[in-house]
Amino acid sequence: MADFVGVDFYEMDEMLSDEQRLVRDTVRKFIQDKALPIIEDHQREGTFPISLLPVIAEMGLLGAHIPDYGAGMDALAYGLIMQELERGDTGIRSFASVQGGLCMYPIWRYGSDEQKDEWLPRMDAGEVIACFGLTEPDAGSDPSAMRTRAERDGDDWVLNGVKYWITNGTLAHLAVIWAMTDDGVRGFLVPTDTPGFTANQIKAKYSLRASDTAGLVMEGCRVPEALRLPLAEGLKAPLTCLNEARYGIAWGAIGAAMACYDEALRYAQVRVAFGRPIAGKQLIQEMLVECVSEITKAQLLCWRLALLKDEGKAHPAYISLAKRNNVAMARNTARMCREILGANGILDDYQTFRHMVNIESVYTYEGTHQIHTLIVGQKITGESAF
Ligand SMILES: Cc1cc2nc3c(=O)[nH]c(=O)nc-3n(C[C@H](O)[C@H](O)[C@H](O)COP(=O)(O)OP(=O)(O)OC[C@H]3O[C@@H](n4cnc5c(N)ncnc54)[C@H](O)[C@@H]3O)c2cc1C
Repeated sequence: MADFVGVDFYEMDEMLSDEQRLVRDTVRKFIQDKALPIIEDHQREGTFPISLLPVIAEMGLLGAHIPDYGAGMDALAYGLIMQELERGDTGIRSFASVQGGLCMYPIWRYGSDEQKDEWLPRMDAGEVIACFGLTEPDAGSDPSAMRTRAERDGDDWVLNGVKYWITNGTLAHLAVIWAMTDDGVRGFLVPTDTPGFTANQIKAKYSLRASDTAGLVMEGCRVPEALRLPLAEGLKAPLTCLNEARYGIAWGAIGAAMACYDEALRYAQVRVAFGRPIAGKQLIQEMLVECVSEITKAQLLCWRLALLKDEGKAHPAYISLAKRNNVAMARNTARMCREILGANGILDDYQTFRHMVNIESVYTYEGTHQIHTLIVGQKITGESAF
């Protein structure tokens, strides 16, 4: 497979610091050398490429944006990591997003010092894999409808309920579970070997096949008060975690789009129809130009968002706008690139179809396209339309 050089129509590369460029190029090479050669097998088998985990952890990609307990990189470097991981496969980026953005982040932000010391170093090292349980079979876009309950019983909490669509669910050693209590939503760290806890893989997926997705069942699952996140109060706590992950998704979508565009461009330059390469056909050029225009706009959007995030000024609606725009962009880009590949575009000799179906999950998870529309709509009009 030819080396990937990225998509940089506006010469944004020169705006990167040496460190940011080094991080991006290191992850890019890792994806090229280690992930792409094995990813289609995992796609066919429906398994997460767990063999990549030690290297991902060693490179500091799991807690890349977590201060003190992780590499503590700036928002731009973190975004570039997510971009490059998803250039390989959405499942790889999802693993890192869940581990870092959805699980290490709440422990770092809402946990006690004892909880941080106990879990974060091992999570950063990839020794403890975690999952984030918010969604339920009947509560997705509206997590306030959750039915999972945590009842206080002496020094313990007893959890009962079902979480569904949980990434890393059967791989996880630790589940960050959001449950309703008499005082509202609270977060719990539930070791997955706790009696009463079971995880069942959701196998029949067309999308995100190289990712572990599970249903979690808690029946009388007892955890001590010491495993409740002490500073997490109400639904806003899990929503701040989603913001972290959504930021990474906005970047990741660029990676998926880049992978498809790069493949379609190379293909168009060598595929001959009516006596010359299809790259010389106006209608093909129109699609390629549309792709590179939208990728470039998405890059600029993420660039600005990264600077705002480091300044603590990235309003959740700004992140929603980027997630909404960039995932829709990747979805359209993947479809156009699949079209350029013709019949070959439905084969797994090419990666575009895999990205195309993966993006369907990304379009829905971490807030659907419609939910992000409503978040941005509320910010600009002052009216809630949920
Ligand atoms: C592969 C995968 C991995 C996932 N990983 C995780 C995970 O690790 N942890 C976790 O907690 N969850 C996870 N999820 C769940 C995901 O976040 C939810 O699927 C998502 O929030 C949408 O919920 P839903 O599927 O129940 O759709 P619903 O909420 O039922 O929505 C159905 C449709 O109605 C639309 N809709 C809903 N409300 C409105 C409204 N007010 N106005 C207009 N339209 C509306 C939606 O946009 C959507 O099109 C994952 C999902 C997938 C597919």
